[in-house]
Amino acid sequence: MTRVGFGFDLHPLVDGRPLVLGGVTVPSARGLDGHSDADVLTHAIAEALLGALALGDLGRHFPDSDPRYRGISSLALLRRVVELVTSRGGRLVNVDATVLAEAPRLAPHLDGMAKRLAETLGLDIDRVSVKAKSPEGLGLLGRREGIAAMAVASVEVAA
Ligand code: MG
Repeated sequence: MTRVGFGFDLHPLVDGRPLVLGGVTVPSARGLDGHSDADVLTHAIAEALLGALALGDLGRHFPDSDPRYRGISSLALLRRVVELVTSRGGRLVNVDATVLAEAPRLAPHLDGMAKRLAETLGLDIDRVSVKAKSPEGLGLLGRREGIAAMAVASVEVAA
């Protein structure tokens, strides 16, 4: 059977941090704040994978309170989540994600993000979709206070 998981994440934008999305460092005067590299896109995808198998959220598996995860690359966390899903008999089918950011413009970087994520997920590039959406100046995202991401993942498991 095929199961679907959903993931959402949001991090604040601050001065003096790199902006890492989907494992790609995007040129930007400001970056996302968080315990790890704060890669909001990779976190949303990891949560979607966990959600597909009802394995809880990312914080349950990689607690903020654990110093081992300070500054860690979120691709490393995603790799661990893929291993967990695989160990439960899951086979990842595809991922579709959207990043909500007022700035910077992400279009030139989306293919690079999809490539890095596909490598980490062990999927062909045509099974990993990364899209970007402008919040059109509305709300906290429109005021550039943060960047959000949403993702769905589908996973095949034995019925
Ligand atoms: Mg996060």
